[in-house]
Amino acid sequence: MEKDSLSLTFEELYLRVLEEATGSEEFSFDEKQLSCLFYPNPHVPEWKLPEVMQEDGTTKEGKKLSKDVAGVLQELSAKKGRKAFALVAPAFQGQFGSDVTPGMLRMAFRHLGFDGFVEVALFADVLTLKEALEFDRNIHTKNDYLLTSCCCPMWLAMIKKLYAELIPHVPPSVSPMIAAGRTVKKLHPDALTVFVGPCVAKKAEAKEKDIAGAIDYVLTFQETQDIFELLQVNLAEEYDKVREYSSEAGRIYARTGGVSEAVKATLSRLHPNREITLEAQQADGVPNCKAMIDALVNGHTTANFFEGMGCFGGCSGGPKSILKKEIVRDNVNQYARASRFKTPLDNPYVLELLYRLGFTTLGDLLTDKEFFSRQF
Ligand code: SF4
Repeated sequence: MEKDSLSLTFEELYLRVLEEATGSEEFSFDEKQLSCLFYPNPHVPEWKLPEVMQEDGTTKEGKKLSKDVAGVLQELSAKKGRKAFALVAPAFQGQFGSDVTPGMLRMAFRHLGFDGFVEVALFADVLTLKEALEFDRNIHTKNDYLLTSCCCPMWLAMIKKLYAELIPHVPPSVSPMIAAGRTVKKLHPDALTVFVGPCVAKKAEAKEKDIAGAIDYVLTFQETQDIFELLQVNLAEEYDKVREYSSEAGRIYARTGGVSEAVKATLSRLHPNREITLEAQQADGVPNCKAMIDALVNGHTTANFFEGMGCFGGCSGGPKSILKKEIVRDNVNQYARASRFKTPLDNPYVLELLYRLGFTTLGDLLTDKEFFSRQF
């Protein structure tokens, strides 16, 4: 990328993209949409710990609660002035009932004692932008390629274990989950961060030495459903508090091919006339991921961007999803199409978030070695 491009501010870039797409030159940002992240209202748990859980971690009916469910309940009941955030994975749509909208889920988490409810798709947006910049920085000939870094711990573990020589082709980025946790902790030091998703591997990822501390607990959708049942929260009766701050690109991370499509669309926005375009290949399920990398290593591919997801269907097929992967995929696609923003570059909330975190230019994001980055 040209030096000039790297010194471009996000606002200049956003306005350029906006003008190209709509002819408008106005920056439109409604702070209320991200109030859950920036200015969460305090909420006290509407339940008492001894009424729902005994000291041995069982319910009154004798059901043993998982370690993470018990831990989250204890933390919420004792939080006092401490802020608590639910950070919800992009595969959440429809998991808690076909009539339960994101706005209703937001309100339901308040009964538990969460002050903030944030869709991790916003951070998938940020990482998409970073991956597009990494592609632009690294891919200049037909022999160059990238392996996507940012999403799946099973994919990363496979590369580290079986194909360590390919690590230089993996951009040094954290996952959207870690980016979300770090952001909350920076904006609200001492906050409790709970990631909610379909994934068991994320529980181990949250504890990895170099990134530990961003996420305090990982709850699966099934564990979260257990909590709603235990506390008798009727999600279908919640008020629908609509908030809109993630783009189509961030929302499709939850299914196979989503990361590739997101990065490709963002790169096209960034450099519509780039000579070498992003040619993606995807695989889901560890055997397919392995076959894809073997083909790459043996020169049997023409792609230059490789996306792997440990589960069949990607996170839509996560082991602790409540719904079947095909239903999650369709829900994810529907929710993505409903976004007002196509890519992170069209999304003023990404821009605002990056400014608040101290990132002003594209170069700031690309040269960051701490906040959205890690070394493999
Ligand atoms: S694909 Fe599976 S293992 Fe990978 S992040 Fe998604 S749910 Fe977790």
